[in-house]
Amino acid sequence: MSEQNIRPAALVTGGGRGIGRAICLELAKAGFNVCVNYASSSAAAEQTVADCIALGVEAVALQADVTSPADCQNLVDTAAKTFGRLDVLVNNAGVTADKLILRMQEEDFDKVISANLKGAFFCCKAACKLMMRQRYGRIINISSVVGLHGNAGQSNYAASKAGLIGLTKSLAKEFAARGVTVNAVAPGFIGTDMTDAMPEAAKQAALGSVPAGRIGNAEEVAAAVAFLAGQSAGYITGQVLCVDGGMGM
Ligand code: NAP
Repeated sequence: MSEQNIRPAALVTGGGRGIGRAICLELAKAGFNVCVNYASSSAAAEQTVADCIALGVEAVALQADVTSPADCQNLVDTAAKTFGRLDVLVNNAGVTADKLILRMQEEDFDKVISANLKGAFFCCKAACKLMMRQRYGRIINISSVVGLHGNAGQSNYAASKAGLIGLTKSLAKEFAARGVTVNAVAPGFIGTDMTDAMPEAAKQAALGSVPAGRIGNAEEVAAAVAFLAGQSAGYITGQVLCVDGGMGM
């Protein structure tokens, strides 16, 4: 890391709510200045910023839609300019549009691929230039157990999350010699707005496949991200860390 500003800086896409918010807070606790990206939930992002600042670091909310390549470039540039560096990028922003494939329209497929996979590609592309110049960086992509094992009714989501794993491993190989690690975290069934929206029967079925016998919480995912974001994880790259109570075994 450069000597210019002693506190490292992180950018978390979709950082205002759910797992992204927990990641912002965990990184703040670990001493990172934090850029909290949001698409439309500005009040939630501002609350997350206030909560990070209360932990003793600097934080800002940055609006950007990760489906737009121009927004992603601008987001990464602004994040790097705000704190004079960018050490960590967490590609967390994600959406679902669940349907069985017979009912799934092309728009349903494109919407999910665009936010979950192309958004991460755009942000990685923008961030890797800075990180290679720094000869230091940590990129963490939030995948899913569904990307490893598939799930009926989520072919679009599973494809996007499996794609993220391929993206992660390829970039890990491209940047390994430059001090930049690229890893994925694959959460299982975590209590957030995303899973609250599931039908009760689907929730019960998902819960039934968790050996730990409970839904995970966003802080448990954030702890894994913070580990991979730390300097001490520098020899770990191209890995998929499941945080799933054994769901994917
Ligand atoms: P969530 O509560 O629905 O939050 C989704 C986040 O993504 C929000 O902050 C949202 O910001 C942001 N977002 C969506 N579209 C965006 C866009 N186009 N540009 C920028 N931000 C955008 O979901 P979550 O459960 O916390 O999920 C976070 C990540 O974990 C996702 O990638 C999800 O696929 C993954 N995951 C979740 C679970 C789970 O069980 N919850 C399991 C495995 C993986 P706005 O509100 O501003 O739109």
